[in-house]
Amino acid sequence: MTKQKHYKVIIIGSGAAGLTSALYASRANLEPLVIEGIQPGGQLTITTEVENFPGFPEGIQGPDLMGRMHKQVEKFGTEFLYGTVTKANLSKKPFELDVEGNILTCDALIIASGASAKLLGLESESRLMGHGVSACATCDGFFFTGKEIVVIGGGDSAMEEATFLTKFASKVTIIHRRDELRASAIMEERARKNPKIEFLWNKQITEFLGSAESGLNGVRLKDTKTGEESDFKCQGAFLAIGHVPNTEVFKGQLEVDKTGYILTKGKNTKTNITGVFAAGDVQDSVYRQAISAAGTGCMAALDAQHYLEELEFQNS
Ligand code: NAP
Repeated sequence: MTKQKHYKVIIIGSGAAGLTSALYASRANLEPLVIEGIQPGGQLTITTEVENFPGFPEGIQGPDLMGRMHKQVEKFGTEFLYGTVTKANLSKKPFELDVEGNILTCDALIIASGASAKLLGLESESRLMGHGVSACATCDGFFFTGKEIVVIGGGDSAMEEATFLTKFASKVTIIHRRDELRASAIMEERARKNPKIEFLWNKQITEFLGSAESGLNGVRLKDTKTGEESDFKCQGAFLAIGHVPNTEVFKGQLEVDKTGYILTKGKNTKTNITGVFAAGDVQDSVYRQAISAAGTGCMAALDAQHYLEELEFQNS
């Protein structure tokens, strides 16, 4: 049966941005609902060591950090709902969300739905996903113990995943489409110093080789400078080529940039629709850090609180 319920504030997403929004909104007695999404806790739940979140001088495991945030938020009476938003109607007030058949309405909406791993879009990639091809080293690394694998990408994620995967794999080759990394100096140095890591430069993957039955046995490469094709043997391939924002459900309703990130106004978290706010990676294609996501989560809750106070004043 379809359930219908109204909230002052609904927060979509339970990563660092969503949970920080919930912390501030619940402490302001707004009794928010957090819709947790398909990956409760967000991207940090699939990372390993987090060394750059202030307050943890020894570092902290990503899932542990999110577990602590969740516990802290629970203390102030936030309601949590496991599920994803399948439809959103932001053209009328209150805003209306369909969460897998349940209709929820709210006066203020905070979108903190984050971003998901980007894929190359090859047919062979979707066919072999879960059969040797993966976009999550922490989830699948263990399955590649003693195997030779490749990591695709040249950013911090690629360096981090390659370094992590050396715990399992006998050899890790980072395949990058240019001859210069995008990764930060410290992450690059860590990868370069690891004796199990090698680099293949100026190579683009054109096909993942193998079958769902027998698994991956290699990748077909094209040299981005000479156009020359070659095959490279490996039993695992991990994609680490960045992320795409989870904004599909708001398509045509909210202003987004050319890659789909929600546009917010100036120094606040307001979107083009009054009463709708955005925080975290869904509106940030530049910084994309746990701490910056948490920061914008705080801002969104304060912006929502001010908006609701104004609304109440107008209606009184
Ligand atoms: P990123 O910095 O955007 O790097 C993506 C990499 O993938 C780039 O090297 C890019 O190549 C390559 N790429 C993109 N599309 C491709 C395609 N279609 N085919 C082949 N290669 C492709 O993404 P990220 O590494 O996920 O990092 C995102 C943010 O998170 C960054 O701000 C990063 O600092 C941060 N981060 C931090 C940590 C940490 O500090 N522990 C760990 C992970 C991520 P080009 O270089 O040629 O564009």
